[in-house]
Amino acid sequence: MDQPRPVIVWFRRDLRLGDHAALRAALDTGQPVIPVFIHDETVEALGAAARWRLGKSVEALGKRLAARGSRLILRRGPALKVLTDLISETGAGAVHWQRTYDRDGIARDKAVKARLTQSGITAKSFPGALLHEPWQVQTGSGGPYRVYSPFWRTIRGLDPGAPLPAPSRIPAPQDWPRSEHLDDWRMGQALRRGEPVVAAHAVIGEDAARDRLERFIAERMARYPQDRDRPDLPGTSDLSENLAWGEISPRVIWHRTRAAIEEGDAAAAKGGEKFLSELAWRDFAWHLLYHAPDMDRRNWRPEWDGFPWRGDNDDAERWRRGITGEPFVDAAMRQMYVTGRMHNRARMIVASYLTKHLLTDWRVGLAWFADCLTDWDPASNAMGWQWVAGCGPDAAPYFRVFNPATQAEKFDPKGAYRRAWIAEGQKDPPETARSWFKAVPRSWGLSPDAPYPAPMIDLKAGRERALAAYAARKAGE
Ligand code: FAD
Repeated sequence: MDQPRPVIVWFRRDLRLGDHAALRAALDTGQPVIPVFIHDETVEALGAAARWRLGKSVEALGKRLAARGSRLILRRGPALKVLTDLISETGAGAVHWQRTYDRDGIARDKAVKARLTQSGITAKSFPGALLHEPWQVQTGSGGPYRVYSPFWRTIRGLDPGAPLPAPSRIPAPQDWPRSEHLDDWRMGQALRRGEPVVAAHAVIGEDAARDRLERFIAERMARYPQDRDRPDLPGTSDLSENLAWGEISPRVIWHRTRAAIEEGDAAAAKGGEKFLSELAWRDFAWHLLYHAPDMDRRNWRPEWDGFPWRGDNDDAERWRRGITGEPFVDAAMRQMYVTGRMHNRARMIVASYLTKHLLTDWRVGLAWFADCLTDWDPASNAMGWQWVAGCGPDAAPYFRVFNPATQAEKFDPKGAYRRAWIAEGQKDPPETARSWFKAVPRSWGLSPDAPYPAPMIDLKAGRERALAAYAARKAGE
């Protein structure tokens, strides 16, 4: 009798078993399933914190699979080579995966699909990373959206479909192919501050992501509209870390939140609606990146190409090091270095300070975020930077320059956020503020006992320089 031909399920940034269409379709064939993760060039390209966090997510998925009688096979190399090797080793007849929508991912997947199909192997891709495929959501006249509000109005009433259940058992092949060892990949190698520093702030895996969602709904959702802009309060879901690695699907979040809105009171309904409208920004970012694949490296508005942004410079280095002398900015930069996360309001403020007060190219900031964030997401990061810098779609106008001092008064009214991250000048600084000094490289020469640095730029002068550069650009249009 013929051996059953296994189906390979190629996991990428979708490291979960629940609501996983590619896995579900593989199970539906009734054939054995071989789950695989490939350390390919897209993994090589990740920043330090993202690569470390990905490794943790891969580890967690491996454990979940083992609990269901399966395994996660790890291989390193170009995806097509790894997959063709595995096919010849195991006799697999099909490869399934869930789509990604970034330029390099699409190019890789197209090439893999074409070659596998040519060799008579079934290659199938599935949705799952977004609420809606980027080509499904269209304006009334048929093109992609460029403005968020009508995008939200359109998807608000669209049902993304019911989430798929996680399997309790996954049929194993007769013989497992060889797997590499995750430890040998040294995913945390580039994390100069050391893995334990960031690990203390990470919440990893599918179960943890579901718990996070439940806690958000029970404890924070009703106050989300008021608290979401306050970096000094635990007001948001923190789910971006889990969404970034696919430990939870946006569809699960959507349906669970909709149910909570139905069951809850008026405050819960208002909070839930607002939360879903923020979740939709993530879909919007991917919608934009899919339709403008260079959004992570080129100004979305080409008329900005001549803007006299400075390239990398000493001021930007002080920004990266969290020693600009502007407390809200420094608190945020330090928070990101230690925790791998930064509050959304703070992301906007530090991005505005870099691109406007320091007149530095948004790509300099984008690259540092990509290196530091455990929730790094190519679409949201690029959209966020271009939005703040003024050169993106539906962007904040360039002349709207955030003043970090007045923003601090408004969104950190008692200074708790700044005190949490800035040790200098405090008699007994909290552990968070001290932890940053322990985490930074010695070569930076920083000490909590040194005086807090004086502002590196006068806020008014920085704003005027930015506005003058903007006026010159407008005049040249
Ligand atoms: P919540 O307020 O609980 O929102 C729920 C979910 O909605 C988030 O998890 C996220 O998936 C989505 N969301 C909320 N706000 C936004 C937004 N403005 N843009 C896109 N999606 C949003 N987000 C990332 O996930 N990765 C990034 O690399 C990233 N880089 C950014 C860079 C800049 C310069 C800016 C201004 C924003 C960036 N964001 C990024 C968006 C936003 O800051 C984070 O998604 C948010 O802070 C995550 O916290 P949360 O999960 O508690 O959000």
